[in-house]
Amino acid sequence: MQKVICPYCGRVAKYVDSSVIYYGHSYGMAYLCRPCNAYVGVHSGTDRPKGSLANAELRGWRKATHARFDPLWQDGPFKKRNAAYRWLSEQMELPIEQTHIGMFTVEQCKAALEIINKGVSV
Ligand SMILES: [Zn+2]
Repeated sequence: MQKVICPYCGRVAKYVDSSVIYYGHSYGMAYLCRPCNAYVGVHSGTDRPKGSLANAELRGWRKATHARFDPLWQDGPFKKRNAAYRWLSEQMELPIEQTHIGMFTVEQCKAALEIINKGVSV
């Protein structure tokens, strides 16, 4: 496991099976800060977190952002997820390696949604 710090309280997150989060249903391992109810899953087969720990509010924003972003590459206009993220990184003026919804803050989710809602011209 890696040392993953909870961004809300500064404690070290626990490395747990996600069944403790999803009421018995396991989706692999996760990092969890129980006091903050903040967690993040790992890339499958690794102990690398998929992004930063998110609490309920941030999870909601990330979910909403994914719901608007994913169709951009799943049904076009971008054919590939990478291409859609490259476009978003340019629009947000963020380095590509930081342009992942799983890493976004609430503010960044709001900014991304605003950009996506303006529409895409490629
Ligand atoms: Zn915490």
